[in-house]
Amino acid sequence: MKGKVYLVGAGPGDDSLITLKGLKCIKKADVIIYDRLINNNLLKESKKNCKFIYVGKKSKKHIKTQDEINEIIYREALEGKIVVRLKGGDPYVFGRGGEEGEYLAKRNIPFEIVPGVTSAIGGLAYAGIPITHRNYASSFHVITGHLKDENDKLNWEVLASLDGTIVFLMGISNLENISKNLIENGKDKNTPVAIVSWATMPYQKVVEGNLSNIYEKAMKYNIVPPSIIVIGNVVKLRKNLNFFERKILFGETIIVTRAREQKKEFVDKLREFGATTYEFPTIKIDEITPNIELENAIENIEQYTYLLLTSVNGVNIFFKKLFSLGYDSRKLGGLKIGVIGSKTAKAMERYGIKPDFIPKEYVSEFLTKYLKNVLTTKDKVLLPRAKNSRSYLVEELSKICDVDEIKIYNTVKGTDKAEELVDFLKDKKEFYLTFTSPSTFNNFVEILGDNSQNILKRGKILSIGPVTSKVIREGGHEVYGEARKHTIEGIIDLLIKERR
Ligand code: SAH
Repeated sequence: MKGKVYLVGAGPGDDSLITLKGLKCIKKADVIIYDRLINNNLLKESKKNCKFIYVGKKSKKHIKTQDEINEIIYREALEGKIVVRLKGGDPYVFGRGGEEGEYLAKRNIPFEIVPGVTSAIGGLAYAGIPITHRNYASSFHVITGHLKDENDKLNWEVLASLDGTIVFLMGISNLENISKNLIENGKDKNTPVAIVSWATMPYQKVVEGNLSNIYEKAMKYNIVPPSIIVIGNVVKLRKNLNFFERKILFGETIIVTRAREQKKEFVDKLREFGATTYEFPTIKIDEITPNIELENAIENIEQYTYLLLTSVNGVNIFFKKLFSLGYDSRKLGGLKIGVIGSKTAKAMERYGIKPDFIPKEYVSEFLTKYLKNVLTTKDKVLLPRAKNSRSYLVEELSKICDVDEIKIYNTVKGTDKAEELVDFLKDKKEFYLTFTSPSTFNNFVEILGDNSQNILKRGKILSIGPVTSKVIREGGHEVYGEARKHTIEGIIDLLIKERR
């Protein structure tokens, strides 16, 4: 049986700039054949057993030849698989997607093209440069700058005479030639030029100049591939249209140390504000299984009057167990339900339940204070939560009524690679380290070992609240900022205030 191939454009870099159809293809792919510039986050969208084949090529140093790539795509499809050939930008813009399509067509392999946002247009947009504009350019021309033998093929005279915007892809190593040829063939040496490197990524870098000085400037600012060269008066619009680099956290680097299971929301928000984030989960959530105690509690839920859940992880693990036993949320119909924190409440609502009470502050003390006023000796509380939770809540509530504390998960040290973080921070002059609990800090120190002191000294440390700050100070480090609201929004507020 023959499979099907999708030649998918991944967009210019930022993973959210892929099309809906492209994302759907990734989700259903059995195998993904991808290039060097593909954003890793996109690969994470694939299904569990998806196979990955890297055919990335660095210019000049090809890892796989185009013939080999064609053959790989073909062979995978012959096995009846859904094959996604994921390419940067648009598959037909200097992506050799046409050749891959032809190869498949000749061999009767069904395929579809999923167009993508090309860097030639979308990448420029993120630098504040519209590829056309009524007042400045009524055409645009996208040209390969990968010249070598093709040098002769480009008609510089014609190129120099064009009025529209000229975009060179793969041109950065030929920048000197390109500007020289255009000037020699009559293009005004004052024509504005910009180089956009790593377009759409939070570390995007742009250098502006004109035909006569752009090479020098690119050298000075150490511009590297992938870069787009754009030549024309539209470059002038950048000063008004540069929305991206004006985002409030653009240019800031922020290390996120929360658990893999909890970091997404934080990272998404930081990215929305334009920050470069580095995820270094220091905590891992391990569900305790088997858990007969929890199963018994659910089977006999009628014996309880209150259910308290104190974290999003706790909610998710609890409901997973409830469902796996064949019940649904109605099983909890007879109980009063309380949570700590609005995040936990939201997680609960996803299962169709509105908590009866949510303390305003996100700590056990407030939950206890509230409950002390409503609980009577006749009540019985079910409290499924993390193994290493503070004993305070149980101690206090037990003074009033029966409390069944059931340990449902463990937070253990994350296993992230310390070397990679050290390497990432090597050249960074400024960065923030965020700690959202004492254990994120303690684990960070343990995972990084000898390197931790140096990194903690160089970085600006942001803490979620006093309990975490205390641990950081006891470790001998200065807390640069402490969130007033003890949530990730509180930390983001700190960062934003700093930039205002
Ligand atoms: N099909 C791709 C282009 C492939 S050629 C597209 O439509 O965008 C590869 C070249 O594209 C690189 O050498 C560089 O010039 C450009 N490019 C791709 N992504 C880029 C990015 N994020 N920033 C700057 N240039 C990029």
